[in-house]
Amino acid sequence: MAPNQPFPADAVRVHVAIRGAVQGVGFRPFVYRLAQELGLLGWVNNSAAGVFVEAEGPRPLVRAFVRRLESDKPEISIIQSLEATFLDPVGYAEFEIRESTGGEKLALVMPDLATCPACVSEIFDTNNRRYCYPFTNCTNCGPRFSIIAALPYDRAATTMRIFAMCEPCAREYQDPADRRFHAQPNACPTCGPQLTMWNGDGIEIARLNEALLAAADAIREGKIAAVKGLGGFHLMVDARNQQAVQELRARKRREQKPFALMAPSFEQALQYCSASEVERRLLRSPECPIVLLPRLSGATGLAAAVAPGNPTLGVMLPATPLHHLLLRDLGFPVVATSGNLAEEPICTDEHEAVERLRGIADVFLVHDRPILRHVDDSAVREVCGRELVLRRARGFAPLPIQIGTQLAPVLAVGGQQKNAIAAAVGEQAFISQHIGDLETEGSHQAFQSVIRAFQDLYDFKPKAIACDLHPDYLSTQYAEKTGLPLVKVQHHHAHILSCMAENHLLPPVLGIAWDGSGMGSDGTVWGGEILHVTSSGFRRVAHLRPFLLPGNAKAVREPRRVALAILYEIFGNQAFSLDVPAVHAFSASERSTLQTMLRQRLNTPTTTSAGRLFDAFASLLGLRQVANFEGQAAMELEFALAGTKEDNSYPYNIRSEGDTLWLDWEPAVRAVLAEPAADPGIASARFHNTLVEMAVDVAKRIGEENVVLSGGCFQNRYLTERMVSRLLASEYRPYWHQRVPPNDGGIALGQIMAAQLPGESRKD
Ligand SMILES: [Zn+2]
Ligand SMILES: [Zn+2]
Ligand SMILES: [Zn+2]
Repeated sequence: MAPNQPFPADAVRVHVAIRGAVQGVGFRPFVYRLAQELGLLGWVNNSAAGVFVEAEGPRPLVRAFVRRLESDKPEISIIQSLEATFLDPVGYAEFEIRESTGGEKLALVMPDLATCPACVSEIFDTNNRRYCYPFTNCTNCGPRFSIIAALPYDRAATTMRIFAMCEPCAREYQDPADRRFHAQPNACPTCGPQLTMWNGDGIEIARLNEALLAAADAIREGKIAAVKGLGGFHLMVDARNQQAVQELRARKRREQKPFALMAPSFEQALQYCSASEVERRLLRSPECPIVLLPRLSGATGLAAAVAPGNPTLGVMLPATPLHHLLLRDLGFPVVATSGNLAEEPICTDEHEAVERLRGIADVFLVHDRPILRHVDDSAVREVCGRELVLRRARGFAPLPIQIGTQLAPVLAVGGQQKNAIAAAVGEQAFISQHIGDLETEGSHQAFQSVIRAFQDLYDFKPKAIACDLHPDYLSTQYAEKTGLPLVKVQHHHAHILSCMAENHLLPPVLGIAWDGSGMGSDGTVWGGEILHVTSSGFRRVAHLRPFLLPGNAKAVREPRRVALAILYEIFGNQAFSLDVPAVHAFSASERSTLQTMLRQRLNTPTTTSAGRLFDAFASLLGLRQVANFEGQAAMELEFALAGTKEDNSYPYNIRSEGDTLWLDWEPAVRAVLAEPAADPGIASARFHNTLVEMAVDVAKRIGEENVVLSGGCFQNRYLTERMVSRLLASEYRPYWHQRVPPNDGGIALGQIMAAQLPGESRKD
């Protein structure tokens, strides 16, 4: 492990893709001057797909460069999206303006983008012909992916084909100097889509602006409004009204899982939350995602039921003129949650919505622009000073990940939870929008229609299909039925390959894949894995010491079961009489049932899951015994950290078992039991730190320089940041996710990459 780089240790390269009105406006000279000023090396060029920049140099300067690309840009340019990916430096000798790579137009389907500032000012300008028009858009903003039926992207190939442009609109559309030149969804109050408000039974009660005002009144009165937006329906209620929010929870059957907030403006969002510079940029970006932000401690005015017990809030700004108009009229934040019943895909059609959301929504604010495909709100958070996409949907999908080498045409069908699919076309991996958990008939149908749509859009004929090892995943079962050559990819191998692809990393790497569960090559439930990934496959070099999951799926719901199983592993039958919260959380008869289950291994599989170990510690610390939604206990363990500064960790063991290392948590559990009154924040920090030290310990034994972090556990900011800093301190090079989710939403990309490997990829 000898760092032998030709560049200083703190150097970094950033690859930036900028789209929008950035051509013919002096953008490249601007980038050149900025790079010169900061002393960065690299290049800038122009292509049909946008302006691309690479710049490398000391980390703080590269960060400043990215920031200033936006803040100092030429006055007339409009940045529609700015995608920055941080990579290893390559050692450029100068900064140059490269020749335009014109000619071939990339057949990229653009994502839906939030309303640009120019369009926002038009809808609030009483003298503008689009004053109060909720479907205003231009070349820089508006619907794309959600309305496109086929390529090339022409109005006739979109759901806007049913609206004939009026003369003024047609003039804008044909004028190369106009902001709406070839804006396919161009529309105005005379010729475009219109709003209607329906009552709970789908009967029209208002039209046009009256509809908007009536919906606003309903929300003000504490009612639940279903609002048809860009890529589907939201359910909205007044976020200050505790009773209304609770009613929404009851009707949507969503007891505690946090709701996202839509704030009327950036300034109002900051009345409730603090935001770093990165978070502020994310909030106002054209992707307009839900950004996880720390709550301001003194902030009042929000209903407690919005995000019970949660020190963070998911906040977004209005993404369409309709939402701008509605929120401006309201003047207060609303809960905006996807218009569906738990686990179902988001509704897109208003008639279907009336059926599916009957009894949930009191009123429906709808319009007559058809949504061709569902696109949820994306969700992001800041980790290590960069963005981390948690849910990849609006604004991101279906932009591809550039792989840089020719890929075999493979379709990857992803996992079971947080499903997304991917297609390898040329040198690019296209990842679909977030589809969801493939548990219901509705989500299974959405999954199939996304696959069909990808095949149609990209005229894509896969030669093979990649799927998970798990035979019960609906995605795996779908893959098996296609009759195409199958590549079955181990779940955690896919996680690591996904993160490698995003970071343009070649093997070998040490992969730390920590999540809730995934089927292992040996048929057991894995989830706390450290894999040595090479060009021919992977070797499982270390994993958490296995433990039992009494009741299997029930154990996922009940952290106390996992805690008890872990205690049983250490203390045997004595575990059931220990004086700890996990034991007290059961009745005597439940304890005896569990004892039988554990002893006889009835419906009690073995696991090495890191996610479940988080659950067990949340239970041992008395934070959560029964979870209300997936990941709640782990989330609360992370919340307990708030503001804690604790560098110590618990003791642990690493021991050889055959040719793998076991990361033994027993000393940590014993330490927790030894100090039952410990501060939960400090105890939680020590638990996180222990997991990090175990991984760093293994990294030192294996000695692979590049260490890759993936799996749902790395949505946890503290865990990821601690891991990164501890690995850096030991002179390893850590890599983590940025634009592809570390959770199972990123699995499909890894499956694509596994299918590119020689035949050994399937082997352990
Ligand atoms: Zn616009
Ligand atoms: Zn018009
Ligand atoms: Zn996973």
